[in-house]
Amino acid sequence: MKITDLTVHVLKSPLAEPFAFSQGWVKQRSATLVEVHTDQGIVGWGEAFAQGLEPPEIAAAVIEHALKPLVLGADPLDTEVLWHRMYHRTRDYGRKGSVTAGISAVDTALWDIAGKFHGLPICKLLGGAFRLRVQPYATGFYRIGGQGEAQRLADEALRHFDAGFTQMKVKLGYGVDDDIACMHAIGKALQGKATRLMVDTNHAYGRADALRLGRALADFDLRWYEEPVAPEDLNGYAEMRQKLPMPIAGGENEHTLYGFRELLGAGCVDVAQPDIGSCGGISAGRHIVALAQAHGVQVNPHVWGSAIAQAASLQFIAAVPVANHSLFAPEPVLEYDRSSHPFRQQLITRPLQMTDGWVEVPGGPGLGVEVDRSVLEAYRV
Ligand code: CA
Repeated sequence: MKITDLTVHVLKSPLAEPFAFSQGWVKQRSATLVEVHTDQGIVGWGEAFAQGLEPPEIAAAVIEHALKPLVLGADPLDTEVLWHRMYHRTRDYGRKGSVTAGISAVDTALWDIAGKFHGLPICKLLGGAFRLRVQPYATGFYRIGGQGEAQRLADEALRHFDAGFTQMKVKLGYGVDDDIACMHAIGKALQGKATRLMVDTNHAYGRADALRLGRALADFDLRWYEEPVAPEDLNGYAEMRQKLPMPIAGGENEHTLYGFRELLGAGCVDVAQPDIGSCGGISAGRHIVALAQAHGVQVNPHVWGSAIAQAASLQFIAAVPVANHSLFAPEPVLEYDRSSHPFRQQLITRPLQMTDGWVEVPGGPGLGVEVDRSVLEAYRV
């Protein structure tokens, strides 16, 4: 089998109501998708993660101009060989960010092809599924006005609970005092309801404020405190982990086994969160799992993309071992973004759904999803 062509799709949709996370206002949802064609008629799909402030055209240009010439004519089943080719040949201008996001998209598409070729879901090719269904957690609590939205966020918590979510991640990083006020309002609204919370500041603070917030939330029994400090501040991460009672999570802004070697080697996190759409794809995710396993650190992927990214994340989570085995060890959970994303639900013919608090891992070949091409046309730039 040979790769005959790569088609890049850049999709965008302006949001009716922009929302903020700690780093800025998100005014549109976007996606960089790649479609890899083969001489046997098998087509694979992949997605490069475009975070809320990231122009999707950057990864699209990487795929079109840098990666496509490296994989055309190659055997798509050579996932490991092609990963190293793409990484090495872009190393001097890549290694992080949108370049590894581009590699991630192509790599994911190759795994989709491999699954379709063998008639197996990707999790099976990764060595099998540790779980066939995953508990989703609601990611939400973005701001629409700025500060002072405690009551609105408390109401939102109840909506997530009523929708069936028992775990929720609260976006913080809008000022420590405002964060604390919001958490108390949310905690009060959820009192008596069996729920577990995580918090995520998207590295809004330096060490002093990050510690102050963490200490103020000590009684919330948080599942984790995500990106407390900047991804470059490895010592800061390690300090959080030593001084705060809750598990520390991070890694959505780290890439490849080389980046995670630094993060894990410096003792930064209890939960490592590679995003399959930016860490380097399924292949890099597999490298990172091996590394994390050796450090006793749980991998729990981050995902904020479209249906392709969700499916890739779900296939990957199915194959992630529990880092510290015991009868009742906590299982990895699926990030389920609840913010507005006009084409996420529409992009595949059978959108992922939560039933009785669980999301099933698609059992079909490859990613296990089918793209609705009319949706590509509707949102194409
Ligand atoms: Ca995050």
